[in-house]
Amino acid sequence: MTTTSQLHIALLAFPFGSHAAPLLTLVQKLSPFLPSNTIFSFFNTSQSNTSIFSKGPKPNNLKIYNVWDGVKEGNDTPFGREAIDLFIQSTPINFVKSMKEAEEETGVKFSCIFSDAFLWFSCELAEKINVPWIAFWTAGSCSLSIHLYTDLIRSNDETLSRIPGFLSSLRISDMPPEVVAENLEGPMPSMLYNMALNLHKASGVVLNSFEELDSIINKDIKTKLQKVLNIGPLVLQSSKKVHSDANSDESGCIKWLENQKEKSVVYLSFGTVLTLPPNEIVAIAEALEAKRVPFIWSLRDNEVKILPKGFLERTKEFGKIVSWAPQLEIFENSAVGVFVTHCGWNSILEGISYGVPMICRPFFGDQKLNSRMVESVWQIGLQIEGGSFTKNGTISALDKFFNEEKGNVLRQNVEGLKEKALEAVRPDNGSSTENFKALVELVKCHK
Ligand code: UDP
Repeated sequence: MTTTSQLHIALLAFPFGSHAAPLLTLVQKLSPFLPSNTIFSFFNTSQSNTSIFSKGPKPNNLKIYNVWDGVKEGNDTPFGREAIDLFIQSTPINFVKSMKEAEEETGVKFSCIFSDAFLWFSCELAEKINVPWIAFWTAGSCSLSIHLYTDLIRSNDETLSRIPGFLSSLRISDMPPEVVAENLEGPMPSMLYNMALNLHKASGVVLNSFEELDSIINKDIKTKLQKVLNIGPLVLQSSKKVHSDANSDESGCIKWLENQKEKSVVYLSFGTVLTLPPNEIVAIAEALEAKRVPFIWSLRDNEVKILPKGFLERTKEFGKIVSWAPQLEIFENSAVGVFVTHCGWNSILEGISYGVPMICRPFFGDQKLNSRMVESVWQIGLQIEGGSFTKNGTISALDKFFNEEKGNVLRQNVEGLKEKALEAVRPDNGSSTENFKALVELVKCHK
């Protein structure tokens, strides 16, 4: 390996859910540790680029490229799974085309391909130009482990208990649907399966997590991959305001929290993608109203329309609904008592980083697995009874947090994990700090 004169890092983003924004956060963190003439070329769809770059300034040495999203000219923009499938079907040709443009425009060959782990074909692109492939797994080590065990899981249900680090708590119903899909040929299952088969070729696999959260799982995946680099939680490091643009408290949530009692508020948010089923929105609303518990609920305008008639008026003394909440600043406030979540990885890690226990209502992807970890392995929260929100199930979950000893135990457990997270990012010798240094060295090297 030799050090190059100029680094040009290709960043390949997966443009759905909360994937592209953490990749950008990572670039912002890496940039000061690399030579000042380093070029970053960021490849992502135009829609996702618009969304993530509207939230703050971009580094000067980062060039943005729009890759084709797979939608033919004149066709309507699809949503949800259809949009994802079209995009996957347009890879890798869409990336290859834009990457060629970037090399021509800058006149500098790529020194490294740093991609979302989903985009496994990056390993073939990197091999072709003889540069390292570094993969970014934007979720936890628990779900990464499950993907690496896809063949074993598909061979027999009983093998689940053989996967290290889950305390025999796993159920087949916790599995990401792609891992247990009837056939692996659909765009998404096939992409994730290929990722599992190819990830060992990556020079490094980077995770926004910390080793001490899942030490047994990490020990195990280190035997399967070349270099496992947990460098998180990114939100506990310098640029935490990158994600949430709430410094100005436009929503008024922070001011509102100042008047609430310690650990009394329920914060509800279900991420950037999900729309809750109407009956569950109504069930939550009825439970909050019946308990008269102070709440902040991040709820989009189209969902607000589903709330029971008069709900906003009747709850305005103790509740607040906003279309986008400054989640990190909310978690920093000691008035927050419990987080009701869909169990997206960023939300889970943010809850842990700020010591907030959780009520889980997972939907898809890694969410059910994350929820299992929260309830059975880390013991920092509860899954909602019956798997979906009902009025009584929601009241009963809130009671456990506010009226029963169980809530205190879960709160103490999450506080313990928060301490470990803070240790991991200690600037002198934290495990994530050390892993970050190793990542900088990896990015600096040429094959
Ligand atoms: N988020 C936020 N305010 C909201 C809703 C979400 O700041 O009102 C942020 C949250 O802090 C997290 C991200 O959006 O960083 C959601 O990511 P996650 O992985 O939890 O879920 P996804 O959006 O991928 O389903």
